[in-house]
Amino acid sequence: MTTAPAIAIQKTTHSRLKETDFNNLEFGKYISDHMVMADWAKGEWSEPHILPFGELKMTPAILALHYGQAIFEGMKAFRMVDGNINIFRPQKHHERLIKSLDRMCMPEIPYDLFIQSLHALVELDKEWVPRSEGASLYIRPVVFASESRLGVKVSDFYKFVVMTSPVGPYYNKPFRLKVEGHYTRTAEGGTGFAKCAGNYGGAFYPTQLAKKEGFDQVLWTDHKEHKYIDEVGMMNVMFVMNGKLITPKLNTAILDGITRDSIITIAREEGLTVEEKRISIDDLEDGFKSKTLTEAFGCGTAAVVAPIAMINIRGIDYPFPPVDANSIQQRIKKRLLQIRTGAEPDRYGWNHIVRG
Ligand SMILES: *Cc1c(COP(=O)(O)O)cnc(C)c1O
Repeated sequence: MTTAPAIAIQKTTHSRLKETDFNNLEFGKYISDHMVMADWAKGEWSEPHILPFGELKMTPAILALHYGQAIFEGMKAFRMVDGNINIFRPQKHHERLIKSLDRMCMPEIPYDLFIQSLHALVELDKEWVPRSEGASLYIRPVVFASESRLGVKVSDFYKFVVMTSPVGPYYNKPFRLKVEGHYTRTAEGGTGFAKCAGNYGGAFYPTQLAKKEGFDQVLWTDHKEHKYIDEVGMMNVMFVMNGKLITPKLNTAILDGITRDSIITIAREEGLTVEEKRISIDDLEDGFKSKTLTEAFGCGTAAVVAPIAMINIRGIDYPFPPVDANSIQQRIKKRLLQIRTGAEPDRYGWNHIVRG
């Protein structure tokens, strides 16, 4: 067990804990009492400090707003069976944060600064970590260019802020998907592998169009031929075909999801064959026709596993059978939750424990 490092703390005088309806946690609606902040100036990060969550004073000329140097992470802390709290896979999230920062010409955040900030914040706001099954504390680190200046340049000033939000089990009815044959989320060589804000802004429009046509999300395909599958919505995508778990092989247009990695690890441990490879729309259509394609789901920190109800390929709706508790996706989701809550051993060193 790690003890909380010394970080300067300015506590709130008015906790919003009692005003928060823990029985009705809409994703991202409530933000916990405190946030951590550190500033980059003159080539170094300041010591992080904790303060009440609230407004920041900035001008509308900050470079992040104009030229898009803004990246984030999305992670979760879980209430464990012994009452302690587990921040899930912070090293892996930090590795990705570094890749995102690097791609956007932003300064690296040392692991010590990152984990100390998260640990101290979660420890201070530990009453915000929900106790009901499947609920968690969502952790949102964000880094953005804070230099106030209109000329196009790489910023010399940045802010690193971490906020948290109690979230319930994510329920979404199984997705209806449209294969995206025109727009792209990103292209190879672009910023798809980085968790940068602009990737989201650019994805809204094609998603809105798909919603108008009666779908919930788009199945993103490669930018050249719109033939190979990249991701679904803002999640990685997995299929069960011939009893094997298959998922698109990572490339620079695909976000290297930590849920994806955790699911692959657990699936292999369960003796399933996992293949990371290029998957074409034709492969899916063949799978539907031969009934060898039996499951499809999105995976990411927010939803963990999000079942797919049907995929529209070239105008034809191909449905999946309803998902039951014996499905591969539900079995793996359950194992993942057991590891996160300490109901089963943490064989891979994924858990970072904060005293509850
Ligand atoms: C964050 C994200 C994911 C999922 O990553 P996790 O680490 O599993 O949360 C997948 N795709 C995109 C585009 C993302 O931004």
